[in-house]
Amino acid sequence: MLLFISDLHLQENRPQLTEGFLNFLKLQAPKAEALYILGDFFDVWVGDDAMTPFHQSIADALHQCAEQGTTIYLMHGNRDFALGQGFCRQASCTLLPDPYVITPFGEPLLLMHGDLLCTDDIAYQRMRRVFRNPIINFILRKTPVSFRQKIARKTRQTSQEQTRLKADNIIDANPQAIIDYMQDYQVKTLIHGHTHRPNRHQLQLKHQGQITQGQRYVLGDWNDHQGWKIQIDSGVIELLSFDF
Ligand code: MN
Repeated sequence: MLLFISDLHLQENRPQLTEGFLNFLKLQAPKAEALYILGDFFDVWVGDDAMTPFHQSIADALHQCAEQGTTIYLMHGNRDFALGQGFCRQASCTLLPDPYVITPFGEPLLLMHGDLLCTDDIAYQRMRRVFRNPIINFILRKTPVSFRQKIARKTRQTSQEQTRLKADNIIDANPQAIIDYMQDYQVKTLIHGHTHRPNRHQLQLKHQGQITQGQRYVLGDWNDHQGWKIQIDSGVIELLSFDF
């Protein structure tokens, strides 16, 4: 069995959410061969050199889960893209590029965080390119933690203000971008998060010159009482919510 989660937005001042995740790690994750965390695991991450005891406790919990035999994979989200090998080593998890294809039951599946699909949000995509630029990243990593925290706060504030003003369809995944990614990677199934709109969508794809049915699963974001997961068991994919 494989498990997929995303958009937990873990943060120190939300103990119920943290508790919900730690219980998930203790009770549900050990039943899975692999756990895929598809981004925005932490609400903010300014660098592995800024880890607090809270971050450390999450790393320790992941490490324990991995010790019990569940392989843990982590993909960056837009909030925690600065998460690096330092954290992954301590948490015994493997960082995945976005997008990433897995073939768990002979059928390729495309995994994404989902922000790359929101191509209508031009301002966001521009900002994303700046922050993901390797040179800018390299320079940022050399700046003091307090400076990076300030940038993170500012960026989040601006993005929250803009999200309120933007039309609904602009901040959602773009239908053509979805089809392009799925056809480029030659998959019939896509799993992503980011939009906080948990759902299963059917779509038409061209696959090896033929029209075929594709499916897109969108994970939900977690709150203080409820989490979302996708479970794949013997080729059957299910999107489920669960109470803490
Ligand atoms: Mn996101």
